[in-house]
Amino acid sequence: MPKIYLIDVTNRDGVQTAKLGLSKLEKTMVNLYLSEMGVFQSEFGFPTTKHETNYLRANLRLAELGVIAPLRLEGWMRAISSDVELGFHMVPGLKHVNLSISTSNQMIDGKFKGKKTRKDVIREMTAAVDTAYRLGAATVGVNAEDGSRTDLEYLTEYGLAAREHGATRLRYCDTLGYDDPFSIYDTCRALAEAVGMPIELHCHGDLGMAVANSIAGARGVVDGGQDAYINTTLNGIGERAGNADLVATVLALTKSKSFAGKYELGNPIDLTKSWKIAKFASYAFGVPIPINQPGVGANAFAHESGIHADGVLKDPHNYELYGFEELGRGDPEMVETGREICAGEYSGISGFSHIMSDRMSWHFKNKEEAQEILELVRYANVLSHKPLVEDELLFIARYPHTAKRLLTVTPLEGSDVIDELFTPWPEDKDKVKETL
Ligand SMILES: [Zn+2]
Repeated sequence: MPKIYLIDVTNRDGVQTAKLGLSKLEKTMVNLYLSEMGVFQSEFGFPTTKHETNYLRANLRLAELGVIAPLRLEGWMRAISSDVELGFHMVPGLKHVNLSISTSNQMIDGKFKGKKTRKDVIREMTAAVDTAYRLGAATVGVNAEDGSRTDLEYLTEYGLAAREHGATRLRYCDTLGYDDPFSIYDTCRALAEAVGMPIELHCHGDLGMAVANSIAGARGVVDGGQDAYINTTLNGIGERAGNADLVATVLALTKSKSFAGKYELGNPIDLTKSWKIAKFASYAFGVPIPINQPGVGANAFAHESGIHADGVLKDPHNYELYGFEELGRGDPEMVETGREICAGEYSGISGFSHIMSDRMSWHFKNKEEAQEILELVRYANVLSHKPLVEDELLFIARYPHTAKRLLTVTPLEGSDVIDELFTPWPEDKDKVKETL
């Protein structure tokens, strides 16, 4: 039976959300945590955007070193050949891409304003797929933006054309959150049967159904004989009302009445990382986790009423569908209420050494090395505007050259750009062996 995989798009849809963003170090931490959790792929950024270049290249380097593995890193681009050429020029090690273009009449007429027909859209998409493969892509997904407002006949034509040009997957985008579980099941089942290729579900929560639609769509794809790939984000953060939350989607796929034990995940997900990744995303985005968030909300395992409290104490199964330990919860969290030393943009060596050695048992070879790492920590802080978490500090100490590269976001012009982008930076390989 075909399987269901997860592609997290926090580092693309999440960061393009109005009023929200992540520093390049935070985006890197998201990739590391997703990899640890067992997520199949991260849509890790925008290869044609200049301020992403160092981050994207540094993360590809980390993947080469096996630091970010087995997670696949995939870049998002418009399905325009010139964009694809620029993306591969700026990020030469890119292997996996998704290419996006609008397919609904609403958007073809409303956005392209008569400059593109339906035929043009397919022609541009297939040309972009060809270009990506010519430039070294290993997998290419094609996105049908506003797929849920596109007629099935045209979607099928679009998918078949993509498949003919070697596309690996078709992304069905419910861009406006217009679908419901019944409509998306029917559409995606029919689409899977008609195009005969794996399909991604990209759902939004404008009507409060992002997770429900994602799993219903995935079921349609699997019942239609193809592998399904669900797009998720951390804490459901995404454009407008957000996307399907990663943790809630995994819970729904593995615990719900008609999915548990019947529909299979393509690779195992370590749910015990949920608490850590959700807390980090909340801290990094500066957005609290809703109290009633599935699995990771403060009330997800709280009971007050007499009947519920009595019932859950007698047997948790009376009032809990799954245990808090499964989500990696349960350890008390230490919150400093007395003196606190933070690592920030104006930190000095004494405070920093205290944090690294006393709190985290990390010892530098000498003062120079400590000073060098502190300098990077200061820059990281300038970009994130908040104290770094322990994992971020350890990351910088372990991979200082890579960290330096991904913290570099200087706007450059003309030949400076080329020089800057193509200057190799020292390997952190030896350092990695030494410290792990
Ligand atoms: Zn989206």
